[in-house]
Amino acid sequence: MRKRIIQIILFVIGLSLCLYFLIPRDQEPPAPVSGNLTVHYIDVGQADCALLECDGKFLLIDGGNVEDSSLVVSYLQKIGVERLEAVVCSHAHEDHVGGLPGVLALFPTAAVYAPTNTYSSQCFDDFLRYTDQQRLSVTIPKAGDTIPFGDVTVTVLGPLKSYADPNNTSLVLRVDFGETRFLFTGDMETDAETDLLDAGADVKADVLKVGHHGSNTSTGYRFLREVNPKWAVISVGTDNSYGHPHEEPMSRLRDAEVTVYRTDKMGTILAVSDGKAVTFSWKNSTVQPESTGERTPMSYIGNINTKTLHSSDCGSLPDPKNQILFDSYEAAIEAGYKPHNSCLG
Ligand SMILES: [Zn+2]
Ligand SMILES: [Zn+2]
Ligand SMILES: [Zn+2]
Repeated sequence: MRKRIIQIILFVIGLSLCLYFLIPRDQEPPAPVSGNLTVHYIDVGQADCALLECDGKFLLIDGGNVEDSSLVVSYLQKIGVERLEAVVCSHAHEDHVGGLPGVLALFPTAAVYAPTNTYSSQCFDDFLRYTDQQRLSVTIPKAGDTIPFGDVTVTVLGPLKSYADPNNTSLVLRVDFGETRFLFTGDMETDAETDLLDAGADVKADVLKVGHHGSNTSTGYRFLREVNPKWAVISVGTDNSYGHPHEEPMSRLRDAEVTVYRTDKMGTILAVSDGKAVTFSWKNSTVQPESTGERTPMSYIGNINTKTLHSSDCGSLPDPKNQILFDSYEAAIEAGYKPHNSCLG
């Protein structure tokens, strides 16, 4: 009887040891990567268009305005695209969906994604019509879904809900390749940025496609701090009527010591990842990216008297003797501080 119990105990110990070595640990190394991932931020003026290329496979995120359609089609033809693994429409506005019908009319596509399949505009109707012509229907992905694209992991982070504003309803994609990450946010504004952060989304990325062409309605202080990119790309038109990019997000990017590439000055921008590092090249090579000097660490500063929390670049910081420094937003909120509306609202 005793011998039997010892046998059972030894068996259980043996089994747990096997399981210990079989169950993957948290710190798993990234999956092996073959070749490179190239992200083409195609210069379509005041609009968005990015082509992902890896191992001879292609995925298109947005297609510029209707008038950019032939430019985008000829760019794709020039680099040898014959078919697309996926076409993604970040949201229904013309400067994102406009060029996609022309692409769908010519290139066989495996799947089409958008945050909605109803929007009343001629170019969105055309987008639906050419999707249908390929015998496809628009897939509306949920947060957490992935879009198949070879060795590249494309994860849908948002939108987390449907907003009245199509910009906030933009599809948010995190593109992981080896140890490198790219974030695409369409025209997402601060409301949806805040909802993503509150839901604990992992937005950390090396390269950020700056939301909404550099409008001050996007790239909030807290969002930028969490993404913590080394590089940012702004897809924006020369002398556009919106005044994009706005000075406020540019100053936040400078404070965070992000190197900024912009299509209005540099033309089409390529970012190449080998799975470990990212290197950039661009069309107008006489123009240099906007790089920053001294790094001012982004932090949160509380007023110990009013219990108000500010960004470190806020214009109305309390007197130094009344300041308390927090290194995370959550820690400050837990300590009972309330975000100041004009810098963190
Ligand atoms: Zn836009
Ligand atoms: Zn938009
Ligand atoms: Zn403030």
